[in-house]
Amino acid sequence: MNKVSPNQGGCWFCSTKTDDMVFDTEFDTYLHENCRRKELENDPDNIEAQIMSYLLKD
Ligand SMILES: [Zn+2]
Repeated sequence: MNKVSPNQGGCWFCSTKTDDMVFDTEFDTYLHENCRRKELENDPDNIEAQIMSYLLKD
């Protein structure tokens, strides 16, 4: 899969672009729900993932 940077519409976490992404208005970036979840599981102290989690009302 091609790498797409977040400012080109790619996922904030994995830098790929698919059809099942959500838009985060706080960071003005697209991301995958699954990527955000994985990030939180792997790194519970990840501030970006935490903030996005609140915004998305998980
Ligand atoms: Zn992703």
